[in-house]
Amino acid sequence: MLRLFKYYKPYILPSLMVAVCIITEVAAGLFLPKVMSMIVNFGVAAGNIPYIYQKGLLMLGISAIGSLAAIGINFFSAHISSGFGHDLRQLIFNKAETLAMADFEKIGTNSLITRTTNDVQQIQSFFISVLRVMLMAPVTLVFGLIMMISTSLPLSAVLLISAPALVILIYTISKQVVPAFFKQQKTLDKLNKETRELLDGKEVIRAFNGQEVQEASFESANNEWAELNLFTAKKMALMMPGNMLIQNLTTVAILWLSADLLSDKVILIGDVMAFLQYLTHILGAFSMAANMFSVVPRAQVSANRILEVLDTKSEDTDNKQEIELQGNISFRNVSFHYPDSQVEALSDLSFDIKAGEKVCIIGGAGSGKTTLCKLLMGFYQPTSGEILIDGIPLQDISAESLQKLCGFVPQKNILLSGSVAKNLRFGNVNADDEELRRALRLADAEEFIDKKDGNLRYKLSQGGNNLSGGQKQRLAMARAFIKKPKLVILDDAFSALDYKTDAIIRSSVYKEFKDATLLMITQRVNSMSDCDQILVMDEGRLEAKGTHEELMEISPTYRELVMVQQQEVVSA
Ligand code: ADP
Repeated sequence: MLRLFKYYKPYILPSLMVAVCIITEVAAGLFLPKVMSMIVNFGVAAGNIPYIYQKGLLMLGISAIGSLAAIGINFFSAHISSGFGHDLRQLIFNKAETLAMADFEKIGTNSLITRTTNDVQQIQSFFISVLRVMLMAPVTLVFGLIMMISTSLPLSAVLLISAPALVILIYTISKQVVPAFFKQQKTLDKLNKETRELLDGKEVIRAFNGQEVQEASFESANNEWAELNLFTAKKMALMMPGNMLIQNLTTVAILWLSADLLSDKVILIGDVMAFLQYLTHILGAFSMAANMFSVVPRAQVSANRILEVLDTKSEDTDNKQEIELQGNISFRNVSFHYPDSQVEALSDLSFDIKAGEKVCIIGGAGSGKTTLCKLLMGFYQPTSGEILIDGIPLQDISAESLQKLCGFVPQKNILLSGSVAKNLRFGNVNADDEELRRALRLADAEEFIDKKDGNLRYKLSQGGNNLSGGQKQRLAMARAFIKKPKLVILDDAFSALDYKTDAIIRSSVYKEFKDATLLMITQRVNSMSDCDQILVMDEGRLEAKGTHEELMEISPTYRELVMVQQQEVVSA
């Protein structure tokens, strides 16, 4: 956790201000009983009214200073807490953007959200507690002890019993709750995951009547979280009454002991009153320190989780070439398995695509088509083999050069909340409305957008959920076309479209991007005859490559796909 201090540097000066305010507040708080005892001993006892007024005014002055110091503590602490939390969230967010896809998946979206919100919150609470408690408790303890001993040494001996009693109480409770606090953060991750799945998949869950299954797993995570909270709350509930009991017993002991001291005139009544107040301050400092046991373990877990993200190496951007690419693609014996799987998603793929070629990749579900695109986009590195673009190894090409080259339409269309124009300008921030319309026309999307309120300003809801599947696909295509890319990758981009729209878009894409390399992943064999080359994938392997006619001769998988789909068309 201490490693997080390196991000704390800008807040050292405000922290010093907090320290000054704390010392002032504690000193003021402990000086007040002293003045009060003087009023009782020399003012009240002697009936000296001017003395009482004079010391009373002094007490008012000290209280005002103490209050100003307390305001200062809150002011500077709030500044530190919100600033430091802001910085940490920004750091995690920036880091998440630069993570390699494999690392991103390893941490997981849910966990990243918890880390950016709840974990940062825990660290904020920790730093505030450290500032206040860690400083206030020892300062109170030292100053308080000095005042107590200087008031009465024999009465101070009571602390020799009550202080260890408090320490034992704090130790016994914290021993039980600390492991539970460690567990809490992990359980929260689980609860977040279940909640997200329940909400994201609500349509599927309802359609398949899967509420019971999903609710059961949500309930189990929810119960676990609630039980842990209840357990820690129950244990911590003993802390305050236990503390009060010790404080009250100590007070009784002091009053009992002072009876003799008072009658022997070893001590004055005002001193006993002041002594009792010092006691409250000191034992209060102990219970403040005890609260740290609930903050420290949670902060420790949160700090580790935040550091895990911050310590993950960003994708290597050094020694990468900034280059204008043309779109010649070569796969050389490329094999790949996902980080969380031992099964190869791609095995020993080798093929060449020349710039300007129109290539279709076809194959059954799970045959590795999308994985091939992800590798080509640089999201993952091959486990073995090499991918070259224009003869340059992919890992040596900068992300910007690759992004400039590719217009990618992923299988899962991710649209963001905001206007249609905002979504399209992801492809090119400088595109004017006419360019946006041209791209929409190409994707056969202009007509339906014009029917929406505000046309290009039409507001999409989160994930573009106020559009149909086919409309989302067409918008995602327009977003890619707007870049005027030299390599267009369409990953099953026509799957939600009817055959007619599919044919219209395909022919306009062929025309618009006649000089670009076109890579189209599809399960449909219609219009394969337009392709320069077809790659047939089967269980991660390249089963065959060639033109439609060649493949009809040599590839049983291709022949089968064509025959099945022709039968579908005839029977339709
Ligand atoms: P296709 O696009 O041809 O339907 P994919 O490339 O999506 O196939 O998947 C190829 C194989 O890789 C499948 O067996 C699939 O289960 C596996 N796979 C896909 N994505 C992941 C992932 N993120 N983690 C682990 N395995 C994956």
